[in-house]
Amino acid sequence: MPDSSLWGYREIMIGKKLFKTTLVTFAATMLFVVVATASSLVYHGNVKSHIFHAPHCRYFNCKNCRVVFNSREEAIKAGFRPCKICNP
Ligand SMILES: [Zn+2]
Repeated sequence: MPDSSLWGYREIMIGKKLFKTTLVTFAATMLFVVVATASSLVYHGNVKSHIFHAPHCRYFNCKNCRVVFNSREEAIKAGFRPCKICNP
């Protein structure tokens, strides 16, 4: 029998956003975010501008950012420059 306090909907503030979720869903989401962040230490290179971005950058998944590098050295060796916004 699941604990109703875990499964009951509640409002959780993250930053300035209000999420209506259950504690279980919230915990699972957080776990996913942590795992995804830890395992995706990669950089995306823009094939047009030859600029590469860190995962937190808003241009990380831009439409021309199709090259994946496992390290910034790899990106630089390939002739890419670090983005001035995310500073990878
Ligand atoms: Zn960037």
